Amino acid sequence: MAVFDCDTIVVGGGISGLGAAMTLKKRGQTVRLLESRGYLGGAMLTVPDQGYLLEFGPNSLMVTPDEPLMQWIRETGIEGHIIPTSGTGKNRFVLREGNLLPLPLSVASFIRSPLLSWKGKLRLLKEWGIPPKTDGMEETLGHFVRRRFGEEALRYLMDPFVKGIYASDPDLLSVGAAFPILRDMERHHGGVFRGMLSRLIRKKKSRSTNSYPGLFSFPAGVGEMVSAFEAYMGDDAGVHAEVTKWTMMEEGGFQVGLQYDDQEYYITSRNLVLATSAPDAGEILGPFLEGTSELLKSIPYAPLASCYVGFSREKVTHPLDGFGVLCPTAESRKILGVIFSSSLFPGRAPEGKVLLTVFVGGMTGQKLAHAFDEDLERIVLGELKDLLGIVGRPDFFRIHRWERAIPQYVLGHEDRVRRIRAGLPPHIRLAGNYLEGVSVAKAFASGVRAAEEILSL
Ligand SMILES: Cc1cc2nc3c(=O)[nH]c(=O)nc-3n(C[C@H](O)[C@H](O)[C@H](O)COP(=O)(O)OP(=O)(O)OC[C@H]3O[C@@H](n4cnc5c(N)ncnc54)[C@H](O)[C@@H]3O)c2cc1C
Repeated sequence: MAVFDCDTIVVGGGISGLGAAMTLKKRGQTVRLLESRGYLGGAMLTVPDQGYLLEFGPNSLMVTPDEPLMQWIRETGIEGHIIPTSGTGKNRFVLREGNLLPLPLSVASFIRSPLLSWKGKLRLLKEWGIPPKTDGMEETLGHFVRRRFGEEALRYLMDPFVKGIYASDPDLLSVGAAFPILRDMERHHGGVFRGMLSRLIRKKKSRSTNSYPGLFSFPAGVGEMVSAFEAYMGDDAGVHAEVTKWTMMEEGGFQVGLQYDDQEYYITSRNLVLATSAPDAGEILGPFLEGTSELLKSIPYAPLASCYVGFSREKVTHPLDGFGVLCPTAESRKILGVIFSSSLFPGRAPEGKVLLTVFVGGMTGQKLAHAFDEDLERIVLGELKDLLGIVGRPDFFRIHRWERAIPQYVLGHEDRVRRIRAGLPPHIRLAGNYLEGVSVAKAFASGVRAAEEILSL
C-alpha cells in the first residue's frame, strides 16, 4: 500500500481553503494547507495603517447561525468577540439624480420614499399578479427584474445591490446562478412577493431561537477570524508555498511540486483540494484535465480598486449615518459606491477622523480599475466632494487593487460548474467563491463541502 506524506493537500489558504483544511483536520485527517502569498486569508486581509484599520477585502460578514462558518467561529472561541454593525449600519443610501436617498426598510418608508416614482412603485407592486415564467430558459438577472418588477426597480433597487455584491451589471449575471432564491421563489411560489410571504410565515411558525448577529466583524477586523483559524491549523498550514505542478502517481494519490523559499519541494497525498480562484485552479489542472481546465479559465472576474480615504470629521458635511452609498449605473458616476467604514465598527479610524472605503472598477468600469494612482485619487476625491460634501485634502489615501476581485456568475454559470465538477476524478475536489456563492460564508461552505466529499470516499 502506498504511503503518503499526508492524507490531503489543500492548495490555497483563503477562506475556502481554510474551510476545507480545518474540516479535514478536525475529522482526523493529516492535512497540508499550502498558500502562495505570505499570509493566510486570501481576500480577507485586514491592514492597520497610521491609526486606520483597512479592510482590503470584506468589510463585514453575514453568517446565519446554522452555516458552517458560524460553527467554526464558535469552535475557535471567537464568537464572543463578534461586533455587530452599529445601529445606523442598517441605513444604505442610493444615489438618484445626485441625492443620497435612504433605501426604504419598511412598507411605510417605501411608500414615502422618492427613490422610485409613483409609476415605478405601482409597477413594482404588480409583481404579485405576474405569472411565473414556464419556458425553463435561463435568463439574466436584469431580464428577470425587468419582467417582474419593471425598469425603474431594476435601475434603482437591483442594479445598486448588484454593484455592492458582484461589482457587476444585472444584464450580465444569470438570475439562477447569482440569486437562486429569486428564481426559486418564482418557481415554487409563483412570484417573489409570494415567496417572501411564505418564508415569513414559515419563520414565524418555526420560532427559531438561534441568535443572529446580522452583519458583523471583529474588533481587529475580519483578519481576527483568519488569525483564529490560522492558530487552529498551526504547523499544518504553510505560506510562501506556491503549488506549481502535480502528477498522479501510479500507485494512486498525487505528488505535488511547490516553490518555497526559491527551492522546489515535493509532497505526496491521497487527495487534493484546489481552493484557489477558478483560473488558478484551471492553470494547475491544465496538463492533465484539459477540458475542465479550460472551463475553469473561462469564468470571468471583475477587477476592483479599493480606495481608503481618511478625513478629519469636520471636513465631511454628511452625517455618515449608515453603511454607505451605492451608485446605480443610471447615475453615470465613476465610482461603484462608498462604505462609511468608521461608522460601521469602532476602531477603524483615529479619534476625530473618519474612514471611507471607495470602490472603483467592476465589470462596468474595468478601465477605471486600472487607472494610474494619481488619476484614481483625483477621481475619488472629486466624487466624494460631490456626494458627501467633503472639502479639502484627505489626511490619508491608500489604494489596493484586486485583479480578480469577484467571480461573475454569468449566463451558463450553473451548467459550467456542473461540467467542471463532473470532469474531476474523485480524489480531486474544488473549493472557492466561484462555486456556491461569493460571500465569505458561502466560500467557506464550499471548502467544507469539498472536505465532506473527500471524507466520504
Ligand atoms: C474588495 C472585496 C470586498 C469584499 N467584500 C465582502 C463582504 O463585505 N462580505 C463578504 O461576505 N464577502 C466579501 N467579498 C468576497 C469574499 O471576500 C471572497 O469571495 C472570499 O474571501 C474568497 O475566498 P476564497 O478562499 O474562495 O478565495 P481567495 O481569498 O482568493 O483565496 C485563494 C487563495 O489561493 C491562493 N493561491 C492561488 N494559486 C495558488 C497556488 N498555485 N499555490 C498556492 N496558493 C495559491 C491565493 O494566493 C489566495 O490566497 C469581498 C471581496 C473583495 C475582493
